[in-house]
Amino acid sequence: MMIDELGKYGQLSRNIPGHTLSYWQVGGTIDWTIEPFKPQDIPEIIKVLDQKGIPWALIAGGSNLLISDQGFRGVIILLSPRWLKDDEFQLVKTESSLWALNIPSWTWVPGFALTLMKHGVADLVHTCGIPGTIGGLAYMNGGSNRKAIGSNIAQFHVADEKGNLLTLSAKECGLGYRKNELIETNRMTILSIDFEFYHFDLPSQEIREEMLSILASRRKRFPRKTPNCGSVFKSDPALYEKFGPPGKVIEDLGLKGLKVGQAEISQHHGNFILNKGGAKATDILSLIELINQSFSKHLGDKTFETEVKFLHETEGIVEISK
Ligand SMILES: Cc1cc2nc3c(=O)[nH]c(=O)nc-3n(C[C@H](O)[C@H](O)[C@H](O)COP(=O)(O)OP(=O)(O)OC[C@H]3O[C@@H](n4cnc5c(N)ncnc54)[C@H](O)[C@@H]3O)c2cc1C
Repeated sequence: MMIDELGKYGQLSRNIPGHTLSYWQVGGTIDWTIEPFKPQDIPEIIKVLDQKGIPWALIAGGSNLLISDQGFRGVIILLSPRWLKDDEFQLVKTESSLWALNIPSWTWVPGFALTLMKHGVADLVHTCGIPGTIGGLAYMNGGSNRKAIGSNIAQFHVADEKGNLLTLSAKECGLGYRKNELIETNRMTILSIDFEFYHFDLPSQEIREEMLSILASRRKRFPRKTPNCGSVFKSDPALYEKFGPPGKVIEDLGLKGLKVGQAEISQHHGNFILNKGGAKATDILSLIELINQSFSKHLGDKTFETEVKFLHETEGIVEISK
């Protein structure tokens, strides 16, 4: 593969252990990774990879991703979380709202929430304990406390599969509950995001207190020390009405504590699968399969979709269950 020429756009590394790139600490060897030097390098990298027909996929913080035991045959564009630099943060006030333009997708979510807090903006307080990048969070319209980051996104600046630049309004992306239809279906890469905020000019101390209370509540509810990728299944609103959130359903089904190899359904929270030390991706996939089988017995023809994505050795990013 003619990979070396990509070196002018980012830091190239070879034979990377996949388990270092996922919060689950699972995954085989990845042939190549490239960490772009600047956001503008990302579309150039995609163009070269597309023109040469080299398989590629994207990993950001790895907090919502299971990596195959076989790793990946190709190039991973690695957008590891970074702090927002002062000169990347510009607020523009209009009559009714406040905009933050062109925030790079690799911005670390808790760091962004903190920056906003310092500037008196409260809209993304709910994200303060979510690991990963804003690009990764926006890719699935995630959030917490029944809120989603998409409510504050005005526009996405993206690259399509061939590296062409596009600007898309949040509306045309078809953002839904834990879904970003257009971007996901067309395998687009989020380069940066224009945010619009409605709760601003507030005392930082007030926002800080709300954050601390959210963090304290998360510490109580979620397992913290054993490697995991957060909630495995999405909390579908219709199923929630009838049966409750996936964690409760898993608990009601008596599945908490179920183990395959070194992967275990958390005793603390049913929607978390833990790597108890040396778990394989196949262990985690088997547990997901077992949960799905129990779901279909109890929920009829409906099921919860998985929230976490899977990096397949040759197919790239795929859904685990839909
Ligand atoms: C302990 C814990 C708690 C969590 N709590 C929550 C929570 O409360 N709410 C919540 O919503 N999530 C939660 N998560 C899941 C996760 O943190 C978020 O979904 C997260 O922001 C994903 O970002 P990432 O950068 O880690 O993405 P990754 O895991 O690296 O990638 C996830 C997917 O997004 C794609 N992707 C990433 N960046 C981009 C981009 N720039 N353009 C296009 N595609 C991209 C990847 O290709 C992959 O398919 C939690 C995870 C953990 C480990």
